[in-house]
Order: sequence, then structure tokens, then C-alpha cells
Amino acid sequence: MYRVLVTDGVDAEGVTLLTSEAQLQVDELPTLPKDELVARIPDYDAIVGRSATRISAELLRAGTRLKVVGRAGVGIDNIALDVATARGIAVINAPAGNTVAVAELFYGAVIGLLRQLPNAAGSMRAGRWDRADFMGRELKGKTLGIVGLGRIGSEVAARAHAFGMAVVAYDPYIADERFTALRVRRAATLDALLTETNILTLHVPLTDETRGMIGKRELSRLPARSVVVNMARGGIVDEMALQAALEDNQLRGAVLDVFAVEPLGADHPLRSAPQCLLTPHLGANTVEAQRNVSRDVCLAVRDALLRNDLSRSVNVAGGAVGWDDLQGALLLTRRAAAVARAVLADQGMRAVRRVALRVGPELMPGSGALLAAAAAGVLEGVTGEDRLNLINARALAEARGIELSIGETSELGSPRGIEVALAGGMQQLAVAGMAPEDGTPRLTRIGSFHVDVNPRQTLLILTNHDVPGVIGRVGTLLGTHQVNIAEYHQARLAQGGDALAAVSVDGDITEATRRALLELPDVRSASIVHLHEA
Ligand code: NAD
Repeated sequence: MYRVLVTDGVDAEGVTLLTSEAQLQVDELPTLPKDELVARIPDYDAIVGRSATRISAELLRAGTRLKVVGRAGVGIDNIALDVATARGIAVINAPAGNTVAVAELFYGAVIGLLRQLPNAAGSMRAGRWDRADFMGRELKGKTLGIVGLGRIGSEVAARAHAFGMAVVAYDPYIADERFTALRVRRAATLDALLTETNILTLHVPLTDETRGMIGKRELSRLPARSVVVNMARGGIVDEMALQAALEDNQLRGAVLDVFAVEPLGADHPLRSAPQCLLTPHLGANTVEAQRNVSRDVCLAVRDALLRNDLSRSVNVAGGAVGWDDLQGALLLTRRAAAVARAVLADQGMRAVRRVALRVGPELMPGSGALLAAAAAGVLEGVTGEDRLNLINARALAEARGIELSIGETSELGSPRGIEVALAGGMQQLAVAGMAPEDGTPRLTRIGSFHVDVNPRQTLLILTNHDVPGVIGRVGTLLGTHQVNIAEYHQARLAQGGDALAAVSVDGDITEATRRALLELPDVRSASIVHLHEA
């Protein structure tokens, strides 16, 4: 049974998805004062809220049972993400549910500005009939310049065609095919976009690259009497530069839904800037959007708790592949890394410095999660396992100075092949395997030795001289020590040379059994790998 705390008035439709699960006990509470929430959080496995509840480092540390934080909305600026990641807590948001709400507000607000609707409505309320004062402009024939052709940028572009606008966009991270599909012309640079744009709109996240992206210089590149719209995040447009451009009549107008500091100060100069339509961060404020984000986040929180599905977690990077399809590959990667570490440790290499993962093309979309699985395999038995999971494994490995890398290869004999190579000091070892979509994942190579084994609870790796009788002696010894062999795979490089045996067993192998194996004639090393359960 998992306990879920739902707060901040998350829309009921999503909450029902949680309450209808027998394994979830859901408590719905209004937004709680900070101290009360900190006092209550130790009872919960998950918390779902909106922006009103700050998920601070203190709260995350107090939440000793906490596994999942769900945010019904996009922004996760109110969540101490680094602390959540370090503590292995999945952070899930709902980035897609409010896309249409923002795109529709864009057209509502821009048309409102171009037709002077707020002023016209105000003059009507004041009892006047000022038709001549409110001459407007049309969208038809104007060029819309979109910065950021992601979810919202795409919806804005799609609707622009209905208004007969020309659409150009700047987004270096989006493929040409997407531009073509959306009938959007690509601008090679931001400057190129600015020089031909009549209505500039920003739909990028706030990052180091986008902070202050539109300043005095950029505004001066726009054709005279253009319009600037920011419904993305405050700080992307330099507010002072925008204010100056409006005062100078250089711009026709501006629409802002987001601000560098929110709420916007009551006496902020933008409030009285000419031709400036301001809204109080209303982009996602529709009944439909709130319902969508509530449903999206509650489904994802449910799946994270009950099915260990972390594909929607923002702190498991690169889970863009079907999570179910990836399970075998994740397990194999973790096990291959654990095998390599155990064998290297028996050869005296304790500190792993590098983990290099190579995967077949079909697995590349899951690269972030696979790297995390490799990191987890390396750290198994090295760090406390109670908090080691796919969320924090990479951060934990990197904190120990382990370099992680991943690359695509077609040299592993399968599009779903995996090779984990560990290195440190002068030693290195690569362990490879295959994770077929509908079959059991198998280890196929340990160093230069070709094997074919499905590692289960415990894997014994033996190296020995390739002489007759070794297999029999090992089998007999394991039998007398009550160890049940599930699979025994013997590999050798050349007759009479070195041989390696991969023995998959049920249950455990004790240290005493390992020592007894090492005393057998011709056995040179014996490594025991206790494997993490699926
Ligand atoms: P998204 O991730 O789907 O799209 C963002 C796009 O920006 C991506 O295509 C990315 O490639 C592009 N991008 C990133 N850095 C860039 C750069 N330096 N130059 C050019 N392009 C760059 O995001 P989305 O869901 O479309 O949201 C867009 C913005 O809208 C975000 O900032 C989001 O927080 C904001 N938003 C605001 C509201 C609101 O209430 N006003 C509601 C929802 C979203």
C-alpha cells in the first residue's frame, strides 16, 4: 500500500485515477503551511501538487518514504530537483496538457492588442462611442517569427496558417522534417529571424542560453512597428529594453504573460508602458488545461509507484523509448556492469574510473536510462542500495569521479546489443549481451570469452586452465555446498589455454564456497556477483 498526498486543489479528474487504485491510499489536503507539510510528509510515498506548494530540500529530506513528486503543470522551478535526484526521488511534471491553452491565449492576446480591444472595451464601459480611435491591424499577410518550435511553438504555427500568415521559426534543436511538416520556414540564426518578423513570439524554456535572449540589440533588428510576445518565461526578454522600445514607439506593441519577478510589482513601469498588454501568467489557466495536466501527472505518478515506470520522470534523462520495451535492456545493462565490476574487483581494481556503454541503434533512444542502469550496476554493493536507483545512479557515480559515456554501434551483432566497458588504473573489462524485445536478456561476452548465459540471482565467474575434469570437479563441489546450478557455460580461447566459466545459480554462494573453489586444481579465479532483482 502506498500513501499519496494530493494538495493545491489538483483537478478532481486526475485524483480519481489515484483513488480508484486499491494499492493507493490518497489524502487530499488544501495547500498546507510549510511546517505542517514537513511534519506530515514522512507518512507519504508520493506528493502531487501545483505551484503553490514548494518542494524544498528540507521537505524532500523529511520525506523519508518519498519516492515520487508530481507537479500538475510544466514548471518545476518550485522543486529542489538536485536534492530529489540525489535522494532517488522521481520528479514528474505534465508538460503537454496546457499547450493548446497557451496557443489560444497567444491569438486572443495578439488580436486584442492589434484591435485595441482592452481600450475599446474600457471606453464603452465609460459610456463613450470612440470608433475612430480604435483603428486596428490584421494578422493576414504578416510574418510570424517563432523562437522555439516545440510543443507550444508548433501549435502556434499550425494556427497561423488559418490566419494567412507567413511563418518562420528559429530552433536549432529541431529537425528539418518537423519544419516541413508544420509548413514553417527555417531561420538559420536568431538575427535572420528578427530581420523579417512582424510578430515575434518566444516559446523556449528559460535556460542559460535563452536568459536575456531578446535585449536592446535584438529588438533593434526587428522591422519598425513590430510586436513582441512573451508567454514562455520571464527573463527571456529584457524588460527594461522592451519598455524603452515601447516608449520610443519603435514597437507597435507587446504582450507579456510572464515576468522576471512574479507577481509583477504594483508599480512596475511595464504596467504603464504604451501599447503593452499584460496578463498575470494566464497561459495554462483554462479548465481544460488544468484537467489535462491533472490527468497526465496522476497517471504518471500511479505508474511510477505501481509499475516502477520512470519514463515520465524529468530526472531520468532520455527515456524517449517505450519503457516496457526497455526493461530487459536496463536489467542486462545493470547486470553486465555488476559482472564487470566484480571480476575487476577480484583482479584488484576497486575504483572504477570510466564506464563506456555501447548500444545497438534500437536502444539508443533510451540512452539516458541505460547509462543510469550501468551506473547503478557499478555502484551495487559499493553504496547503500536502499536509495540507489535509476534516478540518482548517474549523479552518485559522477560524484565519485566516474566518467560515464554512451555511443551507438552496429558491431554488437544485434540492434538491441549492449556492451558495458569498465576501466580504472591499468585494467579494463567489457561485458556484452543482447536484450531481445520479446525474449530473455542474455550475457554473450565477458572480456574475450564468448558465453551465453541468463544471469539470475547469483553469477559465478571462474577462470581456469582448459584441462579435462574441471567442470566435473566444480559441479561436484557446488553440489556438496548445496548450490543449485541453473546454467553452466564454459568458454575458451584456444584448446589447453585459458578458459572461463559463467555459472548462473539460484540462491547465494558463500565466501567459504568461493575459497573451496579456489583450492580446486586449475581454478585460477572465482568471482561471485550477487545480482539486483528486476
Ligand atoms: P518545449 O520543450 O516543447 O519546446 C521548447 C522548444 O525550445 C524546443 O523545441 C527547443 O528545441 C527550443 N529551444 C531551446 N533552447 C533554444 C534556443 N536557445 N534557441 C531556440 N530554440 C530553443 O516547451 P513548450 O511546452 O513548448 O513550452 C515553451 C515555453 O512555454 C516554456 O518556457 C514553458 O515554461 C512555457 N509555458 C508557459 C505557460 C504560461 O502559463 N505562460 C504555460 C506552459 C508553458
